[in-house]
Amino acid sequence: MDRQELLSRVAEGRHRLEVDEALRLFEEAGLDELGAAAHRMRVRLNGDQDVTYLVDRNVNYTNVCITDCKFCEFYRPPGHGEAYVLSRAELFQKIRETIAVGGTRILLQGGHHPELDLAWYVGTLRAIKAEFPGIELNAFSPSEVEHVAQVEGRSVREVLAVLKGAGMDGLPGGGGEILDDEIRDRVSPKKQKTEAWLDVMRAAHELGMVTSASQVIGFGEEPRHRFQALARVRDLQDEADARGAIGFLSFVMWPLQYESRYGEVFGRKGQRLGADRAEYLRHAALCRLFLDNVRHIGASWPTMGPEIAMEALAYGADDFGSTMLEENVVSSAGSTYTCMTEDSMRDFIRRAGYRPVKRDSSYLPIS
Ligand code: SF4
Repeated sequence: MDRQELLSRVAEGRHRLEVDEALRLFEEAGLDELGAAAHRMRVRLNGDQDVTYLVDRNVNYTNVCITDCKFCEFYRPPGHGEAYVLSRAELFQKIRETIAVGGTRILLQGGHHPELDLAWYVGTLRAIKAEFPGIELNAFSPSEVEHVAQVEGRSVREVLAVLKGAGMDGLPGGGGEILDDEIRDRVSPKKQKTEAWLDVMRAAHELGMVTSASQVIGFGEEPRHRFQALARVRDLQDEADARGAIGFLSFVMWPLQYESRYGEVFGRKGQRLGADRAEYLRHAALCRLFLDNVRHIGASWPTMGPEIAMEALAYGADDFGSTMLEENVVSSAGSTYTCMTEDSMRDFIRRAGYRPVKRDSSYLPIS
């Protein structure tokens, strides 16, 4: 099929992009033609007027972790002088501050702490919901859930059901990085493998939780790894759709935030890591085109900066992410963009030519 015909068919929903076709487009298509096709698909799925955003805070309840991912600047091993677990009072204070600036959601994420058991998580979720009944709690990641299940000796499905009962509204797609074990073995050998990440998400979908998926690029992987990983996300969403579940409501991709010295750490000495503007926008457009069953695509201002994130809104993205009153993970890795006021977020969206729409985790508008 001729390239223009392929892009038109995908944009119009008449053809599903296969991995080899995505690779061909990645190698051969111009950035502008990819952006135009991705934008057509965005307009078909989400209209051409609105860009959504969310006001929230990313609360990292602990930085203690035993998983030692090679790219992680955030975690501290147990017993380290800078290791912490937030107290209930500290958690509540952060949530109060979030609500005071119009926040509606807390993203609760942390390391794999060897001593926090399910009772600690349940107690924390219940206490937050009792004190702040209106706040949405999107909590943990598939690898944290698996870690808690291992600490407890229970299945991830049982643990997720207990956490949901305690007030967890949704499961963010953190820890997905590249869902390809060849890459995971290289950059995070102790972390959850691809099948296990998908299994936790499958269980969350079966339990009716709102979930998202994400991808981090620029570990020195080949383009095929990125698209093979996207195919795993798309296949799981097909399963959710067949079951009538919500599944993944959104997807966001961002580049690794590291200097070239990490090439050596990953066994890729001298190789450029992360992605520049052109590669980010190229892959953002292809993510939109590839993930035909995931409705929303986010632009990543914390890693690319707001100006490039505004550009991404013309490359298939329809959501500007969240204000993130606090962020500790990509900022530990050197990103200079770590939080944004609601006013400035609305301003960036307007300057890109769209109407800003505040939303909740289910992408429903909030007035
Ligand atoms: S990325 Fe997550 S799992 Fe890996 S070391 Fe950091 S905190 Fe631990």
